Amino acid sequence: MTGATGALGRHVIDGLLERVPADQVAAVVRNPDRAAGIAERGVELRVADYNDPASLQGAFGAGDRALLISGNDVGARIPQHRAVVDAAKDAGVALLAYTGVLGGPDADFSLADDHKGTEQAILDSGLPYVFLRNGWYNENYTENLAQPLEQGTVLASAGEGRVASATRADYAAAAVAVLTGEGHENRAYELSGDEAWSFAEYAAELSRQSGKEVTYTSVTPEEHARILTEAGLPGAVVDMLVGIDGAIARGLLAHRNGDLAKLIGRPTTPIATSIADALAS
Ligand code: NDP
Repeated sequence: MTGATGALGRHVIDGLLERVPADQVAAVVRNPDRAAGIAERGVELRVADYNDPASLQGAFGAGDRALLISGNDVGARIPQHRAVVDAAKDAGVALLAYTGVLGGPDADFSLADDHKGTEQAILDSGLPYVFLRNGWYNENYTENLAQPLEQGTVLASAGEGRVASATRADYAAAAVAVLTGEGHENRAYELSGDEAWSFAEYAAELSRQSGKEVTYTSVTPEEHARILTEAGLPGAVVDMLVGIDGAIARGLLAHRNGDLAKLIGRPTTPIATSIADALAS
């Protein structure tokens, strides 16, 4: 699996090691210094960088069930991921699972472009695949509670749109299920939380749990862009963030079909639980 030293990847490693012996797991990492804890658990490290196709030769073995965790270099990921797909094809992997985005080809916001391009590259490769089209992480919101708690407001341009989010651990468990289970070849899973929340509900829950008044400030996309720009964010990041809220406003991140709960065999983690965990930490 790639991305093993990332936040999602660490959960995947944990889940795999609960299911299979460590000598059946290999972690593809670009920086082995960040992977010492993984190696200590008996997992083989294979050093490779998505930007260096030559380094990816040897990242996979014939018959491996591989997981490509999407990188975080937004806009540069199609050639990066294509290099991984080529290496997986050259190696003759038995399965290539990929963490894309909820909606797959129907996701029309800019952040989705890299995922759509990657899914196409995987289809073009002819490899047996699984598309894990992940919805939003609870942690996208709950990892940074200091700001809304200090300011007493959650600011977004998502209108009344709802987010069917789940935790990284939930999405990681789905990846583990397809890597260790049977019958997932050539399937696309739309993965999302069991419950979808609005920003007003999120702010209310934050208030209830923290004891501080937090309200939802609903702004237009133009106001949102101006505020983020004035806060010093680069234009591309502003466009991406406003684009995401636009997608939420149009209901694209609210899709729920129960696939995630079915794959992991338990309900997904509610946003209220992630808020509680974040406040306790
Ligand atoms: P992280 O940023 O924690 O992990 C990204 C992983 O990709 C890291 O292990 C990183 O390596 C690895 N990586 C990045 N670039 C390269 C490269 N050039 N070569 C090799 N490895 C590389 O993100 P998460 O684990 O939280 O999420 C996984 C992915 O999901 C993200 O990368 C992003 O594509 C997507 N995402 C999804 C969100 C959602 O809400 N669904 C939210 C945010 C991201 P290293 O550890 O060395 O940095």
